[in-house]
Amino acid sequence: TIATEEVLTHASIGIATAIDTVCDGQELLQNADLALYTAKSSGKSRWELFEPAMYAAVQRRHRLKADLYHAVESVEFELVYQPIVRVSTCSVVAAEALLRWRHPTRGTVLPDDFISLVEETGLITQVGAWVLRSACEEARDWPAGEGGAPVAVSVNVAVRQLREPDYVESVRTVLQETGLEPARLILEVTEADIIYDTEPIIECLDALRKLGVRIALDDFGTGHSSLSRLRDFPVDLLKIDRSFTASLCGPTQSIGFAHSVFNFGVGLSLTVIAEGVETEECLRELNDLGCELAQGYLFGQPLAPLAMRRLLEHNVAVPTAAVPAGALPVGATMSRAR
Ligand code: C2E
Ligand code: MG
Ligand code: MG
Repeated sequence: TIATEEVLTHASIGIATAIDTVCDGQELLQNADLALYTAKSSGKSRWELFEPAMYAAVQRRHRLKADLYHAVESVEFELVYQPIVRVSTCSVVAAEALLRWRHPTRGTVLPDDFISLVEETGLITQVGAWVLRSACEEARDWPAGEGGAPVAVSVNVAVRQLREPDYVESVRTVLQETGLEPARLILEVTEADIIYDTEPIIECLDALRKLGVRIALDDFGTGHSSLSRLRDFPVDLLKIDRSFTASLCGPTQSIGFAHSVFNFGVGLSLTVIAEGVETEECLRELNDLGCELAQGYLFGQPLAPLAMRRLLEHNVAVPTAAVPAGALPVGATMSRAR
């Protein structure tokens, strides 16, 4: 505690030993440093033991980093969309925009391999602005969903963007220029990212909500945030991490834990989205728990923009079924985009 402020610290640790390899002190430190770098780049707050393969991984990362500047200039990015469905009817109510890098020689690079680099280099401002504008432009023309209700688009935001002084203004401008209604935009912030220096983030989220935009807390349950902090966060939706969703149909002791996490969200009157729903058994569990929305491979892989639009056209035409006992997952026949 510093003055009246509680300051949370964490550590990333790299470990190297001289047991298996004969090396001098300097080499040992270099190896530990590489292990530390790996620990940091795979999410921080963890330890890693040095392995020789880390050299290759670090080199690959350096090359990707160099390519990234070029990728931003020539816009080698694309968005794919993963449907978010109402658990009770399986109809699409929103879709999450997910970033893909179409690398000229490596093929498709997934965000887990490059988003941290985009943040490290500061390119997140440009990339994030491109993602937001593209997603809003695309979603503006989506056909309405169940009962004529508009379909929302959910966009991932890095905490670094929320700390930019003109972020709220830039969102307002994009909404005005693209003509997307603010209520149709959801911004997702990851729980693990917002547990430090929370005041400016809360202010930013409040201002975004005043625009009419909704806020979702992503990967809930993985971020070690204390419940009292969570109470202060202005959020509308809670996206429960797929590890808990998977546990719903797992060993008995983890089921109880997963139930509590879902009940927690439902009890707070937040709209709860289960991430990573892969089986119908799991979907039925979610329905019993009162979880409102779900997303996952059961309903479809992330789709290319055209396939997403077709799915929505199809969605409107198809009468919604009751809770699916063996219903065809929507989008199951759609072409997928990795
Ligand atoms: P996220 O926001 O939690 O997105 C969900 C991730 O889970 C996506 O991976 C999605 O393809 C994957 N997924 C969906 N359903 C299932 C399922 O049933 N089973 C399993 N095993 N996985 C499923 P993806 O597209 O690789 O994205 C990974 C992360 O990268 C995202 O996690 C998000 O944190 C970040 N990300 C993606 N796009 C953006 C972006 O535009 N900006 C920022 N800042 N981050 C992004
Ligand atoms: Mg997300
Ligand atoms: Mg997530």
